[in-house]
Amino acid sequence: YLQLLLEQGVHLDNNQLKAVTHVDGALLIVAGAGSGKTRVLTTRTAYMLNEKQIDPRTMMLVTFTAKAASEMKSRLSNYPLMNNRQIHQLLTGTFHSIFYRILSFHSPDQWSSNKLLKKEWQKEQIIKDGGKELNLDEKEFAYDLALQQIGYWKNSLTLPHEVKPESDWEEKVVFLYQHYEKLKTQQQLFDFDDMLLGCYHLFIENPKLLETYQNRFQYFLIDEFQDINKVQYELVRMLSNQSKNLCAVGDDDQSIYAFRGSDPKYLLQFENDFPDGKLVILNENYRSSHEIVSTANRIIDKNKERRPKKMNAQFLNDRLPTLFFPYDEEEEATMVIQDIQEKIEAGYEPNDFAILFRTNTGSRAIFERLANSSLPFRIDQDVEPFYERYIVKGMLAFLRLSFNEDDQNAIKDILPSLFVKQSVLTEIKGNSILKDCSLLECLTEVKTGYAFQERKLKKLVSVVRSLSKLSPMSAIEVIEKELGYGDFIKKRGNEGNKLERGSDDIRDLKVAARSFQSIDDFLDHVAHMTAMNKEIKNLSKQREHAITLSTIHRAKGLEYKIVYIVGAVDGSLPHDYALESYRNGDEAPLEEERRLLYVAVTRAMEQLYISVPEKRRGKKAYMSRFLQPVKK
Ligand code: ATP
Ligand code: MG
Repeated sequence: YLQLLLEQGVHLDNNQLKAVTHVDGALLIVAGAGSGKTRVLTTRTAYMLNEKQIDPRTMMLVTFTAKAASEMKSRLSNYPLMNNRQIHQLLTGTFHSIFYRILSFHSPDQWSSNKLLKKEWQKEQIIKDGGKELNLDEKEFAYDLALQQIGYWKNSLTLPHEVKPESDWEEKVVFLYQHYEKLKTQQQLFDFDDMLLGCYHLFIENPKLLETYQNRFQYFLIDEFQDINKVQYELVRMLSNQSKNLCAVGDDDQSIYAFRGSDPKYLLQFENDFPDGKLVILNENYRSSHEIVSTANRIIDKNKERRPKKMNAQFLNDRLPTLFFPYDEEEEATMVIQDIQEKIEAGYEPNDFAILFRTNTGSRAIFERLANSSLPFRIDQDVEPFYERYIVKGMLAFLRLSFNEDDQNAIKDILPSLFVKQSVLTEIKGNSILKDCSLLECLTEVKTGYAFQERKLKKLVSVVRSLSKLSPMSAIEVIEKELGYGDFIKKRGNEGNKLERGSDDIRDLKVAARSFQSIDDFLDHVAHMTAMNKEIKNLSKQREHAITLSTIHRAKGLEYKIVYIVGAVDGSLPHDYALESYRNGDEAPLEEERRLLYVAVTRAMEQLYISVPEKRRGKKAYMSRFLQPVKK
């Protein structure tokens, strides 16, 4: 079979060959990005099926995303002798999809997909219910982060009573966690994390069933093993306990999901858990040009917590990675898109390009420029439209209200920031009919029982009425200062919000508003961009031939000829929260940020551009500290 592979141009180096042909017993392949780990997994699968005649139904092939799974299948179909039946019988997918299949096979009713909490808001609804008991403010408490924390605990197999809260915030979240689990069980609902936990408990409670699966599955192949979390690891360990035929590939330098409970320790202590296992290290990089590889090496070399490794590039090209220094994110977007346009005219295809950013909000300017260009592009389903973000939406509501004093939804969106209950809305709706005044005007007569709130509401009316004469940018500033929106954001920001800060969003909103003269025009732009976001997302599913606009996290495992990394400044990459942890003596988050840059850099095959804007969100920015080794 190896001969056939060679004839088809599938060349393997010596270490790759060792990994492909080592079929029985535990095997760990550790290697840097672009060294062919994923390719080895696919080739090994084809080899096992065709050379070793292994029954595909005994193999489980785990990938990190659904997209990676379908890509793996389509790659497999190109290998010699592979037939569709084999591919079909092979169990390939993410941990979630595979274990959900097992669960729903055994108790289809309990795990029927209509009981799945698919969307974040559905989960939020449930924990908000618990929040009521704690008297948490519906809008003010950062429920999204609480959910993230709960997910972290669940994936680490930590039950509510086992958590040792480290702050007031965590104490509240533990309560919500308890409540969430209880309510979910009562209503017979489940979330994505429960798919793994459900299977874990199913096996623990039914040793006979576990044994059946241990016999059924003889071979496990797992990609991106550095991002495995505790429950996933325990599942794999249980299932492979008989056969010991676990083949895992990973790169500790690409572990970027600690916030979800991923832990590279499982990769690093593989030898302890599988003492008879074999370790293969791949040293050649087949993806990126020499200069890109050496840049990546220099960056990641600065991390202390890592298994040292060296990567040699196979592919020579003397193009140095390029740093560029636009004035701000708007100019950054213009420069990137112009460059892409020129390259496409010179013969590149749209799918040769990826634009990568640290957080979703970092893509606003680029998104808007692309949406206004004729270039085809794609975005992830989880990129939330910028103007729909909670803090941004709340701010825009004031602008909308200045435009239409009877805009009910706008009033609904501003009440939380004034710390006034939503029930006021019913009251003013009645009054507005009785007294024939606008909803906004009626707010002045509301009796909340608190003098400070009533004062705020009176002020609200006069301030909102003064906005229409202002530019959108000045209007935003007025709302921040005069109506206490700035304080509201700060208060909310203290709830433990790690990744996205409301104040950053508002600064970015001002950058976006800068080029508009009237609130009216700006609101039109907002509506247009929000609609575009939905449209592009729908198109993205089938759009292959397009520029990729993605977070670094989502680009893991993928490769593009030309990559632009935008917003490479301190505060963005590394993210502020990591810098803050660093100042408080915890270096781990900063190291994870460096790994993110490493992941981003190693996506590039031919050319790499890193953009360092001088100003970001209206403030002076400084080049990412991680780029020091690149400047040389
Ligand atoms: P990552 O860590 O980013 O997931 P990886 O180690 O999984 O990277 P692959 O995606 O498998 O790397 O391979 C990177 C590129 O190198 C692919 O385009 C692959 O086809 C190519 N490649 C891998 N091994 C060889 C080889 N021996 N000869 C030629 N090309 C190779
Ligand atoms: Mg890979």
